Amino acid sequence: MKKIRVNAGRPYDVVIGKGEINNLPSAINKLGKSGKIAVVTDRNVGGLYGEKITALLGGKDVCYVEIESGEEHKSMNTVADILEKLAENKLTRSDLIVALGGGIVGDVAGFAAACYLRGVDFVQVPTTLLAMVDSSVGGKTGVNLSAGKNLAGAFHQPRLVVCDEDFLATLPQEEFKNGMGEVIKYGCIADKNLLEKLSSPGGGLEEIIARCVEIKADFVAKDEFDNGERQKLNFGHTLGHAIEKASGFAVPHGQAVGIGMRVICRWAEERGLTPKGCADAIEALTDKFGMLKGENYRAEDLWNIAANDKKLKGKNISLVLLKELGSSYLYKTTIDALENS
Ligand code: NAD
Ligand code: ZN
Repeated sequence: MKKIRVNAGRPYDVVIGKGEINNLPSAINKLGKSGKIAVVTDRNVGGLYGEKITALLGGKDVCYVEIESGEEHKSMNTVADILEKLAENKLTRSDLIVALGGGIVGDVAGFAAACYLRGVDFVQVPTTLLAMVDSSVGGKTGVNLSAGKNLAGAFHQPRLVVCDEDFLATLPQEEFKNGMGEVIKYGCIADKNLLEKLSSPGGGLEEIIARCVEIKADFVAKDEFDNGERQKLNFGHTLGHAIEKASGFAVPHGQAVGIGMRVICRWAEERGLTPKGCADAIEALTDKFGMLKGENYRAEDLWNIAANDKKLKGKNISLVLLKELGSSYLYKTTIDALENS
C-alpha cells in the first residue's frame, strides 16, 4: 500500500493498493464522519460494484444515486438530479458523499458536493486508470456546458482518495488506453524515469499510479488554483480538447490528449521550441499502448477550435512545451501568432 499526502489548503491522503476499498469504512470513521453516506456512481460501475460498496458502507442506510454514463451526462441536469436526491434523503452538512467511478462521476459528484448546502465533504473512489492518476486528485470538479467542456465548476478538494487497482480488472481496454494518455503526460512533463519504466516490459501498475499521483500532488501543492505551475498538467490538452470537440467527442479525453501531445510536440520541434527526438519518443510510447495515432490532426487546423477553449484569456495562450523529455515550460504566445506560424 502507498499513501501520498496532497498538501492542498486542506491536506488529504491518496491511498493506493489492491483491496484498499475494504478499508473504506474505517478510513471514513478516521475522518470523523459517522453520519449518512451518499454513494454516487454511474450505471456501469453501479452494475458491477454498487451492491458491494453499498453493503460495505452500511447497507440500506446508504443513499444510493446512479447517473447515466457518458460525457453528455456530465451536465448541470445531472448535478441537479443528484442534489434533489441528496435533499430527498435529508443529507446534512456533516454527512458525506462517496464518488465511485471514473472521471465523469468524480467531476459531477464532486461538483454536487461543492454545491449541496454550500459544500459537503466527499471521498473519491476512482475506478478508471484515468481517474486514479488524474481526475480524482486536485479538487477540480465540474460539468460541461453547450459551449464547451468543464465550463462550470468549483475547486472542492476531497477528504480522501482511495485507489484500488482491483477495480481495473473490469475496465475495458479502450478505457485503459485513456488513462495511459495521462500517465505518459506525467512522464513527459516531470519524470523521464517514468517514461523509461513505461517503455520497458513488465507491470508495476501500483508504482506507476503512485508516481503519477505524486507528480500531480506536487503541482497541486505549488498552485492549487491553477494560476501558474499547475498549467503544465495541460500538456497535450489545448489541442486535445480541440480534438475532442472536432470529433464530436468520438475521440475520448485520454486518447485525445495522446494525439494532442504528439501534434504539439512535433509542431514545437519544427519551430525549434523543443529539441528533436521528443515527438518520436511520445509516438513510440503511445503506439506501444495501442493508442490512436490521429494522423489527420494538424496543429494549424486546431488553433481556431482551441481559441474558444476557456483556458485562453483573451487572445493570449499559454502552451505547455517540452524542454526535454521529463521537463516542461510554459510558452506564452497569441492565437494570431499561432495562426500565422
Ligand atoms: P468515465 O468516467 O466516462 O469512465 C469511462 C467508462 O468506463 C464509463 O463508461 C464508465 O462507466 C466505465 N467504468 C468506470 N470504471 C469502470 C470499471 N472499473 N470497470 C468497468 N467499467 C468502468 O471516463 P474517465 O476517462 O474516467 O474520465 C474522463 C472525464 O474525466 C472527462 O470528463 C474529463 O474531463 C475528466 N477529467 C477531469 C480531471 C479533473 O482534474 N477533474 C482530470 C482529467 C480528466
Ligand atoms: Zn486530462
